[in-house]
Amino acid sequence: MNIPYLSFDATNDRIREDMIQAFTQFFDSKWYVLGKSVKEFEAAYAEYSQTEHCIGVANGLDALHISLRILEIGPGDEVIVPSNTYIASVLAVSMVGATPVLVEPRLDTYNIDPALIEAAITPQTKAILPVHLYGQCCEMGPIMEIADKYKLYVIEDNAQSQGASYNHRVTGSWGHCNGTSFYPGKNLGALGDGGAITTNDADLAQKCRVLRNYGSQKKYYNEVKGLNSRLDEAHAATLMVKLPHLDSWNEERQQIASWYSEALHGVGDVILPVLADGATSVYHIYLIRTQQRDQLQSYLKEQGIGTLIHYPIPPHMQKAYQELGFKKGDFPIAEEIADTCLSLPMYPGLSEDQVRYICTRIQQFFAGV
Ligand SMILES: *Cc1c(COP(=O)(O)O)cnc(C)c1O
Repeated sequence: MNIPYLSFDATNDRIREDMIQAFTQFFDSKWYVLGKSVKEFEAAYAEYSQTEHCIGVANGLDALHISLRILEIGPGDEVIVPSNTYIASVLAVSMVGATPVLVEPRLDTYNIDPALIEAAITPQTKAILPVHLYGQCCEMGPIMEIADKYKLYVIEDNAQSQGASYNHRVTGSWGHCNGTSFYPGKNLGALGDGGAITTNDADLAQKCRVLRNYGSQKKYYNEVKGLNSRLDEAHAATLMVKLPHLDSWNEERQQIASWYSEALHGVGDVILPVLADGATSVYHIYLIRTQQRDQLQSYLKEQGIGTLIHYPIPPHMQKAYQELGFKKGDFPIAEEIADTCLSLPMYPGLSEDQVRYICTRIQQFFAGV
């Protein structure tokens, strides 16, 4: 059996006809940037996110970058980010000239540890940027309490967790201004790059719209030094086809996760995903940990099973962040995760037989067969 880490086969098959129809309509509309499809998708995605406003942008990094900029966070300001995130969360902070302040995650949930946030707050702190990593919503209750207490902004990085929730309230609806990504591999993926900002604040929403479009509301009148960061009509039109499927695709991911967790319970030294009280996960990634990660990954590769490592190098150890002056050992939890984590195949359409096959191979690896 050959099982890739990620496959679009099943999802693409299910929506092929609708996608072709949407694409034909887009093509025939002869309006390719900021038109009807973007407006329609923004309204639908705002509703999905239980927020008042959604602003489509070019990618997830820009969604975070624009959010930080319109909140007027810049040089001299500090933003709290988890020490184990994908680099984009940290890059967005750097892009506005602010300083990322790294806070360790919980070693069981892999999301930022609310108990460690207060110690990282200084007079320069302007915002907390929680990342709902691997599909699990952060503990937003405690995080919002801290933000309220210290009058900080909250910007959720919702790139991996569209549809997850904490105490029944969905990701992307908690912070002042939140970013998500429609990179093809995300739970809601476009046919290329895309992203969006969600917010309940009409004034912030308007500022995002101006900033994404060259800083102008009226063509050729530029109020601020803006960006060209618009969600394309083509992507909005096809995302509109996919959005109604998102919940059922997320449920499929949750089913796959429960098959894995059942079969891998107690196998070798494997550590399974854990949910925080009140949090749900939409399993963007199904991640296990083991001290024999590299050997297990090569073994699975020989067996035709694709896996990935999310992520091999934590931000503080990246060459790009040498300037922060960190060394190995500064964020031991992030480092431990990086050294032991392995992401197993996860996508709608992955069958129970395939999951059983993968789990049997993992059992055999630990049994030394
Ligand atoms: C994918 C991702 C981003 C960035 O999204 P892009 O659309 O690739 O720019 C940001 N944060 C996290 C956690 C991500 O996984």
